Amino acid sequence: MAVQQNKVTRSRRNKRRAHDALGPANPNECTNCGELKRPHHVCPSCGHYDDREVVAGADEVDLDDDAA
Ligand SMILES: [Zn+2]
Repeated sequence: MAVQQNKVTRSRRNKRRAHDALGPANPNECTNCGELKRPHHVCPSCGHYDDREVVAGADEVDLDDDAA
């Protein structure tokens, strides 16, 4: 196991971590429903991506399709 030669002081440790903060999220408006969504992701509220529906909404799925 590698062992460090010198103690890293609180000051030096904290200065190293000064650049580690996460930036704010950058949401886009969905072009279909207007909800805020993550860029390059399917809209979680309407299932659209690039102006077409790629994930069917829960109310549109017919679960009894193969029951009969
Ligand atoms: Zn949407």
